[in-house]
Amino acid sequence: MEEVDVLIVGAGVVGLAIAARLSQRYNNVLLVDKNLSFGEETSSRNSEVIHAGIYYPENSLKARLCVKGKELLYQYCQQRHIPHQRVGKLLVANNKQEEEQLKTTLAQAKRNGVDDLVWQNQSQLTKSTPALAATAALLSPSTGVIDVHSYMQSLLADIENQGGLFVAQTNFVKATVNKLGIAATLNSQGEQIKLQCKTIINCAGLHATQVAKAITDMPINKIPKLHYCRGHYFSYQGQSPFQQLIYPIPEANGLGIHASLNTAGQLKFGPDTQYIENIDYQVSDNLKAKFIKAITKYFPTIDHDKLIPDYAGIRPKLQGPNEGFKDFCIQDEKQHNVKGLINLFGIDSPGLTSSLAIAEYVEGLLNS
Ligand SMILES: Cc1cc2nc3c(=O)[nH]c(=O)nc-3n(C[C@H](O)[C@H](O)[C@H](O)COP(=O)(O)OP(=O)(O)OC[C@H]3O[C@@H](n4cnc5c(N)ncnc54)[C@H](O)[C@@H]3O)c2cc1C
Repeated sequence: MEEVDVLIVGAGVVGLAIAARLSQRYNNVLLVDKNLSFGEETSSRNSEVIHAGIYYPENSLKARLCVKGKELLYQYCQQRHIPHQRVGKLLVANNKQEEEQLKTTLAQAKRNGVDDLVWQNQSQLTKSTPALAATAALLSPSTGVIDVHSYMQSLLADIENQGGLFVAQTNFVKATVNKLGIAATLNSQGEQIKLQCKTIINCAGLHATQVAKAITDMPINKIPKLHYCRGHYFSYQGQSPFQQLIYPIPEANGLGIHASLNTAGQLKFGPDTQYIENIDYQVSDNLKAKFIKAITKYFPTIDHDKLIPDYAGIRPKLQGPNEGFKDFCIQDEKQHNVKGLINLFGIDSPGLTSSLAIAEYVEGLLNS
């Protein structure tokens, strides 16, 4: 049987970032993905926003890894010339009650170490962003956008330059714990491969609970329930009236239908939130009325004809409908008693922003 130090299942941003970090230290790092290439699922179906780390409860993994990850990601983008822009974002209020919520958010951000938010009053906003309807806003200068595909390509180049290996079209089937570590069975384009691994890192995103269930000795009661929460996007044809990202006050399961720009300046709106049972990326034209209603609150002069259904992504959420905040769940032996196994569950937003910090955190678990 072939042997590897580390087998990483899932080549989204998180698996790629972990493989790039661990291939600096370990000789034998293998990253596999069942799809034709890397990053074909959630990692290429998101808002491409580098989040500041404003909203999450202090000391949660989401707060800590987002704030750290943002710093690491900006540094990485600069070093590797990855298209990105620190465009900034306006979190907008439309009445006194929402302004109170902005004040609560400001305090939460400070507790998370995000102390660069700037209060904007209505007359400042009218001057700087005439198309915006808002009574006040918080400006987050450290929020930005990134070209995620270039980022993932760069991580892959790092892995390969450091002697790691990525193999696509290779499905993790099952694994059995033995005295030497964990023996994994993979299916690579119809060929069955057995691998003896010292460590397996499960970064399978929407499929992470299925992967965990296929590992003998992994206690079933430690595998959380994953909910699929789809978010749709509509693109806006033509010139953007906004230079910054525009976010309404967050809603229960997401950040609200916001306006974001990609690195080429193209404006899009979304995502909304819709819990679904099966993976399905359809964007129905019927959603347009709901989008217009939400967007009109902060962009009253929106031209309805310019709003076109675009794409959808699915969040792998630990939080079911109407449930409270759930953190990233990153488990090692201490939680599940399986030596050599690390599971990552519920890596929804801000997973992209946090990816390099998640990689650092996982390396720490391997050392502990
Ligand atoms: C609508 C939406 C908007 C978002 N916006 C943002 C944002 O603006 N900023 C931000 O920071 N985060 C955002 N996120 C979150 C971010 O996209 C995710 O946290 C991140 O992409 C997760 O990456 P991942 O590598 O964990 O998962 P994925 O990208 O899903 O990768 C998992 C990989 O595992 C592979 N896999 C699964 N099972 C197997 C198997 N058995 N064998 C082999 N391979 C397998 C899959 O093929 C897949 O490629 C958003 C998410 C959504 C859905």
